[in-house]
Amino acid sequence: MLAVHDLAGRTLLAVLAHPDDESLACGGTLARAADAGANVVLLCATRGERGSISDPSLVPDGDLGRVRTAELREAAAVLGISQVTILDHPDGELRWTDVPELHDEIVSAIDRWRPDAVITFDEDGLYWHLDHIGIHERTVAAVQSLAGQAPPLYFVTMPKGVIRELVHAARAVAGAPPDSSFWGIAPDAFGADAAPPTFVVDVGKWVGRKVAALRCHRTQIGPQNALAWIDEAGARRWLGMEQFRRAPIQGRGEDVLEQLGENVTSA
Ligand SMILES: [Zn+2]
Repeated sequence: MLAVHDLAGRTLLAVLAHPDDESLACGGTLARAADAGANVVLLCATRGERGSISDPSLVPDGDLGRVRTAELREAAAVLGISQVTILDHPDGELRWTDVPELHDEIVSAIDRWRPDAVITFDEDGLYWHLDHIGIHERTVAAVQSLAGQAPPLYFVTMPKGVIRELVHAARAVAGAPPDSSFWGIAPDAFGADAAPPTFVVDVGKWVGRKVAALRCHRTQIGPQNALAWIDEAGARRWLGMEQFRRAPIQGRGEDVLEQLGENVTSA
């Protein structure tokens, strides 16, 4: 039995790069925190306008950023995210474009929401995605700049090997294309350089919503994508654990996100 943790009155802020990052990286934890009473808010730095388009009929006017913004709002509702702020920084250029602006926007979001926990990518960018590394860099700098007022910052990563297994499990589902993949990205890239987590959050009971939220991102998840096919058992097994590392930054605040997790004893 999972213990009931009451996060009423707590706020979680996720700072990520693209629509769909919230669902893929930490959708289970966000949903679980929302169910535990936390106010879960999201700052997304781009509209993901340079992403792939699974089906051109989904983007009749060619404005992918507009469509992905709508997809993100739908996914956020599934996960219980109460507020989504989508910035308009250029997709694919977060490491080197609008650096001071993005810094200030993250500081302002922290100022506005006074979060008890901030979540972003780790320095591995989940699979070395440069925008993910960029949002990591900006978020670390923004949190560090708050010195003694810095909220606890957490880096989310993926366990190494799970995406390979997920793709394998999805291909075994009846009707799935034998070449279904994860956006064509090498599955072993995910989590390959992830730093060891300090705790993991069991989101097995929330994995249905995590997958439903992912599937709101229809322009990203077409029939070739393993996420379109993975079944409940496969999702629970391969997407049911989300792992975090607490950033080594001195600041204010208690161990709020840790309340959902189980400590990892060094292996
Ligand atoms: Zn992304």
